[in-house]
Amino acid sequence: MQNDIQLSVISTIVFALATATVMMFQDRGMTQLYGHVQDYPWWYLAVSYGAVLVLQDGWFYATHRLLHRPALFPWFHQGHHRSRAPTPWTSFAFDPLEALLQALFLVAIVLVVPLHFITLMAVLTTMTVWAIVNHLGPDHLPLGFPHHWLGRWLIGPAHHSIHHRRHGKHFGLYFTFWDRVFGSEDPAYAASLLAPGPSPLPPPRITSHTSARPTEPPTTTSANRSRPTPTPAPDAAAVSTIRAQRVAKPAL
Ligand SMILES: [Zn+2]
Ligand SMILES: [Zn+2]
Repeated sequence: MQNDIQLSVISTIVFALATATVMMFQDRGMTQLYGHVQDYPWWYLAVSYGAVLVLQDGWFYATHRLLHRPALFPWFHQGHHRSRAPTPWTSFAFDPLEALLQALFLVAIVLVVPLHFITLMAVLTTMTVWAIVNHLGPDHLPLGFPHHWLGRWLIGPAHHSIHHRRHGKHFGLYFTFWDRVFGSEDPAYAASLLAPGPSPLPPPRITSHTSARPTEPPTTTSANRSRPTPTPAPDAAAVSTIRAQRVAKPAL
């Protein structure tokens, strides 16, 4: 946790510098930010908000997947994965270069897409809250959330916890869309969504080396070789075991 807090402080500094850069661009009239709602139709507030989330999710997916390449992982992304059981402190525990990469998106987007200040604040708030929720751990939301018709398309703690166990799966930030399209969705998670039931991911403390074995080793790098023994992946057997241990709940 201490490592997560240290990296979060550094990330905060990087995002603050990005904010200062945006303010400098704004002073020079270089951004597309606007302050009068009348400048664009009312509906544009909602459309631009959704569009930025979709664009940011695509940027995050692409860069996140790239940063898991062995040549980049130790420099950009190792810090975020020091916590195999993430907590909210992990949400913004980025190595400085990764923080810079994600902050650059926000700087670039205000240069290209017309955004009301309120829309920008809404995007930043959504990003912050969503990142925290994704790192809550799978047992802090209703167990049926991933089975909800909308929950299937939204990334939550059950979905992202799998990424912290299996580095080759679940790279998205907000939506499950890109993981589905590019085949990085955990098959056990996908299979579990076909039937109503509890969360597809068992809480970390429940799994053991005897109840489940990883079906895919994490990406091998010089950096992650030094990490503790990997926690078993949520393969189909583990999911079945946990389902049997829990009281079945109907889909939401
Ligand atoms: Zn990652
Ligand atoms: Zn994470």
